[in-house]
Amino acid sequence: ISRARLDRFLCKFPQFNKHSVRLLLAQQRVVINDTIETASDCLIDYFTKVEVDGVVLQNNIPHYVMLHKPIGVVCATTDTKHKTVMDLLKYSYKAQLHIVGRLDLNTSGLVLLTDDSRWSERLTQPESKVEKRYIVTLANAIYEDYAQAFEQGMYFPYEDITTKPAKFTKLSTYQAEVCLVEGRYHQIKRMFGRFRNPVVALHRHSIGSLALDEQLTVGQSRELTASEVKTIF
Ligand code: URA
Repeated sequence: ISRARLDRFLCKFPQFNKHSVRLLLAQQRVVINDTIETASDCLIDYFTKVEVDGVVLQNNIPHYVMLHKPIGVVCATTDTKHKTVMDLLKYSYKAQLHIVGRLDLNTSGLVLLTDDSRWSERLTQPESKVEKRYIVTLANAIYEDYAQAFEQGMYFPYEDITTKPAKFTKLSTYQAEVCLVEGRYHQIKRMFGRFRNPVVALHRHSIGSLALDEQLTVGQSRELTASEVKTIF
């Protein structure tokens, strides 16, 4: 989301010009997010509420959605072969949304969508180290402790990268929880591939402090609450 100076933003409206904008600011007639603003160089963006003399010039409300993604639905906006996550949403504003962190076609679970790119950047930046938690079901019994290998990181020559420390917790003979702070291509499947133990089911149940709402059945979505949105800030 790009930012602009308040005076430049106001000058774009036909009813204002450089001179009148300076006056409006000095006369305390400009209100930004419900507070009087007098600084012409104040930075505003697409989601900043702007009023002049009580008239709202801009008031875009950001949207945040969580989806319980089914297996077989693709994390893309359009696809020729498969249903997309967009096809599952009913919101009037859904065309504005982008997917925050993709899941593979055959992975289920929590997918976040938003039109607030600053929020989604905070979530996806490697530096913010947001933990993505997955329940993994494996083809073969977990016969040894994989935790050390996951913690150490694995080298993938194709991309020439070593995975960041990941947490592995055995839940039962065939199930484990894996916690990643990044999202490399087919990362979990490839990590278990090192142990020749194919992943038969993969489900993401949380991203940071946001957990998939258990009330949401497969394919259902809901908007995030204000406090859920804030947990990412
Ligand atoms: N790891 C995978 O292999 N697939 C996903 O969808 C997510 C993590």
